[in-house]
Amino acid sequence: MNQGALPLFRLAGISVRIHYTWFLAFFLIAWSLGRGLFPVEYPGWSNTTYLIAGSVAALLVFGSVLVHEFAHSFMALARGLKVDNITLFVFGGAAALKSEPRRPSDEFLIAIVGPASSLLLAVVFLIASSLIPWELPARALVTQLALINAVLAIFNLLPGFPLDGGRVFRAIVWAITGSMRKGTTVATIVGQVFAFGLIALGIFLLFNGGFFSGIWLVFIGWFLNGAASANRRQVTLDETLRKIPASSLMRANPTVVIPDETIDRVVLTMLMGDGVRALPVAQDGQVVGIVTINNARGVPQAAWPVTTVRDVMTPSPLITVRPGEPILDVLQLFDEHAIHQVLVMEGGALRGVLSRSDITRFLELSRELGGKATPLKRERGSGEHDRTGG
Ligand SMILES: [Zn+2]
Repeated sequence: MNQGALPLFRLAGISVRIHYTWFLAFFLIAWSLGRGLFPVEYPGWSNTTYLIAGSVAALLVFGSVLVHEFAHSFMALARGLKVDNITLFVFGGAAALKSEPRRPSDEFLIAIVGPASSLLLAVVFLIASSLIPWELPARALVTQLALINAVLAIFNLLPGFPLDGGRVFRAIVWAITGSMRKGTTVATIVGQVFAFGLIALGIFLLFNGGFFSGIWLVFIGWFLNGAASANRRQVTLDETLRKIPASSLMRANPTVVIPDETIDRVVLTMLMGDGVRALPVAQDGQVVGIVTINNARGVPQAAWPVTTVRDVMTPSPLITVRPGEPILDVLQLFDEHAIHQVLVMEGGALRGVLSRSDITRFLELSRELGGKATPLKRERGSGEHDRTGG
């Protein structure tokens, strides 16, 4: 859902966005309440009132979804995880964390506060409705909102991934077995069973007078099924990437240039260097920076012979990783700092260069081999703590 989302505002560093499918949901909710439910349950209002009440209710539904997603997000922040964005879309909302929770307790808390906040909203709307006189449209509105939030809480508590209940379920299996993958496998399979159940129910309704709700359920089921299987693939991939150390995919013993080297020579070295897009810069055995193909591109070609590496390089201190750093963490580092390569250093000594394209190439190859490829473990430097074993 990265494409087609409009940024709305930022709160606590989280960007809140609306996916274009949200407008479809807004219209459907406003229509079904303003033209369907309200005229039947509360006759006697003017047409404009129905229309406004439907639209306001739809806005409040999305406000409620936003509160639900912020509950997830704030809990994630409180547990030390970073939240990238909240996106509202046709089936509700999604809070995108920058990384998966690392402990089952984190997963449990982050998941449970969503439905808990919806339940709380339901209670608040229920209390509000008891305070508003029966004949006012506002009463109908808050009553409906109480109901919708209650349904939101209950639906999200279904124990199938990617619903919150599925995450809670995964956290429990994860805590018992000690394996996130086992938790994910169980929760996503249950999630897919629910998804197919919804699709079956939707098809049944479709042919038994409930055309719209039928189609709606089929779509939700189809979406949940897709999300469940995508997540299972992602977790399997994450687990693979957590076991592979940076040293396995890095280019070891890279060519090094000195700060006084000219750019034309550096470009030549890169072209000869098997698609290398960055070179470490060192002087007297000490790494002093890194020079990339983008640095060279920033200089007019005519000036290459008279421009030195020192003029354009990114100087130390650089972002570096240790040889044992899991590839999964390296990828996260790339995203966090918007970089494409990193030097692999150990005790001040340069061991290699690891670039995004090295990792991408490995992943492509691995996919072609059906996810079976694991790189050969290179020998490790002495004294290195093995962070990937077990
Ligand atoms: Zn949720």
